[in-house]
Amino acid sequence: MIKKTKKSCMILLMSNDCLILNGNGKPLSYFPLSAVDWKTAVKLVFTRNVIIIKEHKDWEVRSPSQTFKVPSIVMLRKYYKFSKKVKFSRSNVFLRDMFTCLYCKEVFEKKDLTIDHIIPKSKGGETNWMNVTTCCKSCNLQKADKIINPSPEVKKPSLRDLLKGQKVVEAKKFETDWQEYIVA
Ligand SMILES: [Zn+2]
Repeated sequence: MIKKTKKSCMILLMSNDCLILNGNGKPLSYFPLSAVDWKTAVKLVFTRNVIIIKEHKDWEVRSPSQTFKVPSIVMLRKYYKFSKKVKFSRSNVFLRDMFTCLYCKEVFEKKDLTIDHIIPKSKGGETNWMNVTTCCKSCNLQKADKIINPSPEVKKPSLRDLLKGQKVVEAKKFETDWQEYIVA
């Protein structure tokens, strides 16, 4: 028997039209949340790789021969296993710290935040979970190359930690229909 190579399940995660759930009913990915634009969602339905869970009530699209409702939540027919490892990235550092500058304790929008090396790079500080913190631009300027310990102490986050951060900041912009599915 010829073993089929596993089809890659990479989907562009760039829109908020339709939430994609893995075969186990949980989002395919959390960071970013696995949501696609309506065209991709409709294509997925046509390829029969997904089951429609919910449709947008007042949103229909037409082809020359058919009219259909745009799905709001779809679920993959199969369960794809992904690593639960949390990747080190700028966005994930912001999520870990809940978009809070760990020096002044204020919450900021992503665009007003930066990543600060606790032990500055110029003093041999590395870029990893244990040596970077979310920092607002003004604290970043003031700190310059001094060594100041942020509070709380930084750590390597779990998936659950990141999800907490995402819920705090982004919950409002998700479709209300999605809320029950976005649980770690
Ligand atoms: Zn600050």
